[in-house]
Amino acid sequence: MINFDDMVDRFLQSEIRIRSIGRYYPSEVGQCMRKTWYTFRNPKPVDKELKKVFEAGNRLHEFVADVFKSDKVEEVELVEKEVPFELVFDDFTISGRIDDLIRVKIGSREALVEVKSTKDLRYMEEASESHIMQLQLYLHARKVKEGILLYLEKNTLKSKTFHVVYDENVFNQVIERFRLLHKKLIDGKLPLPESRLDQDKRWMCRSCQYAEDCFRDTPDIDLGNFL
Ligand code: SF4
Repeated sequence: MINFDDMVDRFLQSEIRIRSIGRYYPSEVGQCMRKTWYTFRNPKPVDKELKKVFEAGNRLHEFVADVFKSDKVEEVELVEKEVPFELVFDDFTISGRIDDLIRVKIGSREALVEVKSTKDLRYMEEASESHIMQLQLYLHARKVKEGILLYLEKNTLKSKTFHVVYDENVFNQVIERFRLLHKKLIDGKLPLPESRLDQDKRWMCRSCQYAEDCFRDTPDIDLGNFL
């Protein structure tokens, strides 16, 4: 017999990534800022179960690209998949290859489609704030006015889409977040434990590899220590 689980574990095995302060990934905008800070200060290999979830998501993004480029789908034309991305500021850069981003043409209009896989679409009334922030970053960098957030249910391939229009104010807020992260890293100061402070984001702490560090560094949340 073969042990496929073991093969997958080896296939997806990754090294600890040592990161340089000043280079950030676009996906980090929606992540708890303290968690991103720890990835620089205390790098750990990505949890293997989490890697599997990412890998499954990536396979789904390929499926969406295949649908868009199919001859049977005439209303949308795939222009580019895995869109490269770079935004350079005075003392930091946001860059990366965006696996879940697809550029399409819908008639004469161009749009960026950001694909997100999800377990359950039933209770999804609106797009996630962090996904919208990410997409605003992409729209700005690619000078595209319209975006679509496409959520795809893993087990059924059912989907929900949300239309996003470029908004310079949201883009500026996104950049301010990166600026703050950059400053906290340079100063060696821990950011707020954002996800613990926000009831709607506390679920992020359940799969956070830095939960132990976070609770050790801040057993009780006293905002006065951070402001
Ligand atoms: S445990 Fe929660 S608040 Fe702390 S770093 Fe992780 S995600 Fe952020």
